Amino acid sequence: MKILSVNAGSSSLKFQMYEMPDEIVLISGVFERIGMEESFYTIKLNGEKIEKKVELKDHKRAFELLVQELVDNKIVDSLDDIAGIGHRIVQGGSYFDKSVIASEDVIAKIDELSPLAPLHNPAAIVGIRAAQAVVPGAVQTVVFDTAYHQTMPEENYLYALPYDLCQDNLIRRYGAHGTSHRYVANKMNEILGREDTKLITCHIGNGASISAVLNGKCLNTSMGLTPNAGLIMGTRCGDIDATILPYLMEKQNISCKEMDRIMNKESGLLGISGVSSDSRDIEAGIKEGNKRCELAQKMYVRRIIDYIAKYYVELGGCDGIIFTAGVGENSVPVRKAVMEGLAVLGVKLDEDKNNIRGSLQKISANDSSIPVYVIPTDEELMIARDTLNLINS
Ligand code: ADP
Repeated sequence: MKILSVNAGSSSLKFQMYEMPDEIVLISGVFERIGMEESFYTIKLNGEKIEKKVELKDHKRAFELLVQELVDNKIVDSLDDIAGIGHRIVQGGSYFDKSVIASEDVIAKIDELSPLAPLHNPAAIVGIRAAQAVVPGAVQTVVFDTAYHQTMPEENYLYALPYDLCQDNLIRRYGAHGTSHRYVANKMNEILGREDTKLITCHIGNGASISAVLNGKCLNTSMGLTPNAGLIMGTRCGDIDATILPYLMEKQNISCKEMDRIMNKESGLLGISGVSSDSRDIEAGIKEGNKRCELAQKMYVRRIIDYIAKYYVELGGCDGIIFTAGVGENSVPVRKAVMEGLAVLGVKLDEDKNNIRGSLQKISANDSSIPVYVIPTDEELMIARDTLNLINS
């Protein structure tokens, strides 16, 4: 059965097609600059990458071209071969604790939640509509970044602001990267051979979050109402003293919108180092003796250690720590520094094993109190799996 995983942004459309249930990637690609000039798409097929410059008026056009590529490359014989299309949705609010079929009622709820994800939810709806128009016979499903975190208890997802004010404005911790946390937690449970586990999953990419997972369910997570909470990220500040905002805005006459931009686009590794949001550049800066890069990495690592320690206590122990996403899968020095910071818990690094990038590997020493793994994430595969399950249910 052929299933397409789709991630629609405001001007982009990423896709990956699977043969399911064998979980074989048949083709993948991305359409970029949709609705803009100089639009193009790239596809990956049989280990080759092809780029084509085309006019992409809207997402529907992108879908038409996508389907054409599937037929031209003999991935499908006809549109009827596409059994399901799974769409990634950033914000599912408190409505969705699992993936569902994209009924009109579901789409209306995704739309209603747009104020909580103004850049993402409307774009995803455009993606669903385009898919429905071009492939009307496929089952359309929606997979939410927030759904996995819906199992958090109230005391973990509420903020200590006036209760009614939060209720009336849907203010609470929703979390993000849920599909990734779910994927690596499931994989770790497979490795451990049991499900009654206490796991700490570290999704450290350009955006970054850590979750505490108890018996396969999310107990707590570091992202909040928005993705700018918790860890220090590439360009986001993560947790700060909230009163810095009114103080700075008044003192420097900064608008609300501008303050939001500073916190999301000019902070984090970039803000501290003044060099880059990319941890590769920070690592290169450190090698060249750049003190601000050194400081940025110290603060970045400190925050990760703090969250792991907090969740260790909250879980009452830990059976596995997992690193995933761009930095987690690739940065040897960040993983090393984090694990050294956890030495007090009996965590021990195996330097040789840690010297890997992008592959599944145990990186802790055999006498480490907690096994630590790098597990490459695969959100697209989770979307395909959920879609298959919904088709079969
Ligand atoms: P996104 O949040 O955009 O999905 P990713 O999970 O793809 O991000 O992570 C991208 C980040 O991963 C880059 O900004 C960079 O900081 C980091 N990264 C990628 N490759 C490496 C590497 N070899 N060494 C260190 N960091 C890396």
